[in-house]
Parts: sequence; C-alpha cells; structure tokens
Amino acid sequence: MTEKSKGKKLAEELGYSFEHIAKRMPEDVERSAEFCEDYKVFMNRSKTERECCAYVKKLADAEGYKEFKQDGKYKSGDRLYYINRGKNIILVTVGKKPLEEGARFNIAHIDSPRLDLKPFPLYENDEIAYFKTHYYGGIRKYQWGTTPLAMHGVVMLKDGTKKEICIGEDEADPKFVISDLLPHLSAKQNKRPLNEGLKGEELNIIIGNIPYQDKEVKEAFKLNALKILNDNFGMTEKDFTRAEIEMVPAVKACDIGLDRALVGAYGQDDKVCAYTAVKAAFEVTRPEYTTITVLTDKEEIGSEGNTGMASKALAHFVEDLCECLGAKPRNVYRHSMCLSSDVNAAYDPTFSDVFDKRNSSLLGHGPVLTKYTGARGKSGSNDASAETMAKVIGCMEDANVAWQIGELGKVDEGGGGTIAMFMGDMDVDTVDLGVPVLAMHAPFEITSKLDIYHTYKAFCAFYK
Ligand code: MN
Ligand code: MN
Repeated sequence: MTEKSKGKKLAEELGYSFEHIAKRMPEDVERSAEFCEDYKVFMNRSKTERECCAYVKKLADAEGYKEFKQDGKYKSGDRLYYINRGKNIILVTVGKKPLEEGARFNIAHIDSPRLDLKPFPLYENDEIAYFKTHYYGGIRKYQWGTTPLAMHGVVMLKDGTKKEICIGEDEADPKFVISDLLPHLSAKQNKRPLNEGLKGEELNIIIGNIPYQDKEVKEAFKLNALKILNDNFGMTEKDFTRAEIEMVPAVKACDIGLDRALVGAYGQDDKVCAYTAVKAAFEVTRPEYTTITVLTDKEEIGSEGNTGMASKALAHFVEDLCECLGAKPRNVYRHSMCLSSDVNAAYDPTFSDVFDKRNSSLLGHGPVLTKYTGARGKSGSNDASAETMAKVIGCMEDANVAWQIGELGKVDEGGGGTIAMFMGDMDVDTVDLGVPVLAMHAPFEITSKLDIYHTYKAFCAFYK
C-alpha cells in the first residue's frame, strides 16, 4: 500500500462528506428490504389520516398499549395511547425519569395531498356522471389526470350513523378517473403553463356512464350513480354535505428498480415518518425520558383546525398526562426535545438545477436532518439551535445511524414548512428529521429503503 500524501491525510481529517449507506454498511441492504415489507402493508392500509389512525391503534393494541385515562395512575414502562377525533393518535411510553425532566417528542403527520370532494359534488354533464373536487394540500394538478383513483371517507347519515366508504382498493373494485385531452387535440392546451395543464375546476372525477332506466328522469346518469351510493351506504345527495370524502391514488405500494432499492407509494409524505416513528415507539419499551409519539393531521394545509399542530389539542393532552404523573406542563416543555419528523425533497439528478447539491439530501444517504425549513430567508421556520443539532447528531452517531444534512432546494427556488415551528412555540427544542422523497406530493412518491430503515434507527436512538 502506498503512503497517503500529507495533504490527502489532512483533507480526510478536516473535511467531511456524506456517503451512500450501501457503501459503508452493505449488510443493511437486506435488513432495510426486510424492514420495508411491513411498511408497504402499512401504506396500503393508511391512505387517509382516519385509516392510518385506526391502523396504528390496531398495531398498538397488539403491542399491549392501553387507552389513556385522565384519572389513571401510571408508572415507568406503561404504554398508553390517546386518539383525537379519529385523526390523531398519540403513543406514550412512560420513562424512567420524572416527566418534569422533559419528554422526547416525535411528531409526524398522516394527512397527504389529495382531492377532496366538494361539499355538493355530484353532477352530470353530457351523459357522464361526475364528482367535483377541491384539492387538499400542494399538488401539481396535471399529475392527477388519467391516474386511477379510489374513494375513501365517511358520511354521517341523518339518523346519526356514520358510514365508512372505501371503493377502489380491492383488486375487483371499480376505480375512478379524471380525463385529459388526447395529444391529437391538445395543441391549445399544450400552450398553457404547466401549473394550468389541468385547472382546479377541471379536476372532475368520472363516476358513471349508465342512466337510470326511466325516460321521465332529467338527470338519469347522476341519479343512477346516486342510487348505487344509496344502495351501498344508505346515503342521499344531501348527505354529501355531512361527509368527508377523499379521492386518493388507487395504487399499491411496491418496490422500484431492478435492485428493489426504492419504494414507490402514495402518501409517503409523511406516512413514511409516521411508520418509522411508530415502530421506534414500539421498539423502545423502557426509555429514560417519557416518549410521546404524535401522528398529526392537517399539516399539508398549514396545521390548522383541532386535529392539526397549530391547535391546543396536544397541549391539552400533555396537561392531562402531567396531572397523572405529577409534573408542571411548562417544565415538561422547557426540558423536552422534539423531532419534527417530516420528509424533505431528495436531490433529483434529472432536475438538478433547483437544488444546491452540497446542501441537499441524496437517496440512500440516510435520514435528512433539516436545521430550518421555510421560504424567502427562513420565514416560517423553526431554525434549530447548534445545541439541538449537536444533541440529535450525537445520539444518531452513538447508535451508528447514517444521516445527512439538507435543505429544501436552492435558496430562492421555493420552500415549505413543517410542524417544527409549532413545537418551537411550545418552548420545546425542535429539529426536523425525516426521509428524503423524490417526486414529493405526486400521486406516486419514491423513497429509499435504506433511508427508511436508518430513519427508524435514528428514532430508536433518539428515544433510548
Ligand atoms: Mn410533510
Ligand atoms: Mn407535504
């Protein structure tokens, strides 16, 4: 072996570069593939925040979690869950240290961009029955045309019964679709800017094309669709006004690539962090500090509403927990740490010009630690302190977790936010950590299995 030059040695000593996990830890390729088998099942069962919440409750039940009670007497090692309106679930493992000394929060969101039905959505146009939609979260509208869609949600009937709807996930189920023009006739549409390729009011979903058999009826195609809904769910047209129906891609999670390195699925922002957070909560059964894993809603539209992180719902729960465990909420927050576990944009070689590669997350380099998010000069971001960064990096490195640093694209290219700022508001040291995603917010998003596995390992390290 030839001796390294002095300069080369110095460069290795002083410089730093992040590396693909498979180069450093080839044994993790197989481990991560195994880890992601159940992840794909989870994704297929969790297309909406309600379904995700219900599925995580089922997993938590199997792990022996008990429902949190305001008058409960709890001790170290107890595992509890709390559900907020069927759309948030909080998992708690009581730590060895008193709660006063702080908790370890890990917060991911389980809502994803999609097409919601308008409150009065059903109509027919030239013999086709349709649903009108209003998109939820940031989508690139043109991506949603000619994509098979499934119908998920709940409808409250007049008598108070709640009907759950899920059509399009079973192999044998019908799907739904938004049409787009054929290339032969799209010369005019082709001249539209991409963000108007399909416009909001063109995101109309085809639901039927056979009329109700009665010549007297004016809107027989609409009526036939309504009759089918009535036969299946007992609902009428008026009941749409007391429903929440989400149209989501009818695609299943699957492996991507000849080497199966990647996972493709709808809604990985942010259910990939939700899954890894839940698995870490299950894994760390005797934490030093109480662990509080929160799956929240409404992040994609600004965390508003009483199931989003801008609400006091979490604070109220922490107050209740404090009463049971004998702690002052403000002391808990002040001494706590929080991972705002959300995805970040993975560097895309095909569209490299929107990224600063040195400060972007690369697929296969592990979870991305994001010091700040925001736009136009960090506006709307939490901007974690050096001390917080040091603590989180420290616990990842002690556990041999691969991680990387990154921000969301070039400085003036755009931006985005997470729930981190809301935990900052609560006086908690917070930083963003999550899985890099390609084609974020598309109907089909792409992640790396190695990143997913190391994100899980990072969460475990944070909780231990
Ligand atoms: Mn997100
Ligand atoms: Mn998002």
